[in-house]
Amino acid sequence: MRWRGERQSDNVEDRRGMSISRGAKVGGIGGLGLVAVVVISMLMGVDPSSILQVVEQNTQPSSISVEQSATTAANDDMRNFVAVVLAETEDVWNDTFQQAGKTYEEPRLVLFSGAVDSACGMADSAVGPFYCPGDHKVYLDLAFFEELHSRFGASGDFAQAYVIAHEVGHHVQTLLGISEKVRELQSQAGKSENNKLSVKMELQADCLAGMWAHQADKKRNILEAGDVEEGLNAASAVGDDRIQKQTQGYVVPDGFTHGSSAQRVSWFQRGFEQGNIGACDTFSADRL
Ligand SMILES: [Zn+2]
Repeated sequence: MRWRGERQSDNVEDRRGMSISRGAKVGGIGGLGLVAVVVISMLMGVDPSSILQVVEQNTQPSSISVEQSATTAANDDMRNFVAVVLAETEDVWNDTFQQAGKTYEEPRLVLFSGAVDSACGMADSAVGPFYCPGDHKVYLDLAFFEELHSRFGASGDFAQAYVIAHEVGHHVQTLLGISEKVRELQSQAGKSENNKLSVKMELQADCLAGMWAHQADKKRNILEAGDVEEGLNAASAVGDDRIQKQTQGYVVPDGFTHGSSAQRVSWFQRGFEQGNIGACDTFSADRL
């Protein structure tokens, strides 16, 4: 993918190297832990309340305290790449919305490492990249790109661009009111219907990513030989057949029911070939 020297988005929020301490982690001292503290302190002849006071103090920051560490590498190549891809999505979606008489509100993209706090709750890297409709932000740990390569066998910069474009696709769905409508339908639907709706949302985001690639290439000739294959390969690699490991107790906004590899490939391709939003109506497609 040709990206060096292109415009970088100002909408990247770099939170890498920030550590998040969770009160809940230490706060787990309730229940059995608490009994143990009391029993042990009684055995040791210590007044349990003094120990509990110490525990209490340690659990005090029940809200998230964020600390900047010195390891933040604010200006590396990968960050620049992400900022260029985000800018390319802005250009395409600004135009597309404008042509439809609407205004595109550009999303922010948060780079994080390890864990991150979002309006959708706390998430750790294991959930993979996600979009949070609550704050209109895309969350991405760059380590996922490494995983995409090593664990899912999807390498290449365009594979990474596809991931970003897919998440931006969820933002577009949110702006167009599709996400809300689907959530409404889901609240009245049973589990299997719910999952079907999820799959349609995900495949639509894949199609929108394909559409973006079409438009961005038309504008700026970004694609090099092998790029489309990289995108298709990535779409296939992240099918439901393999899915991010989910951590209990964490919000996983984008963690399940994405469709099979074949479906993902086919919708990305459709968006890419037709290059318009009309190609991406997964909701009236019978074959799902
Ligand atoms: Zn998704």
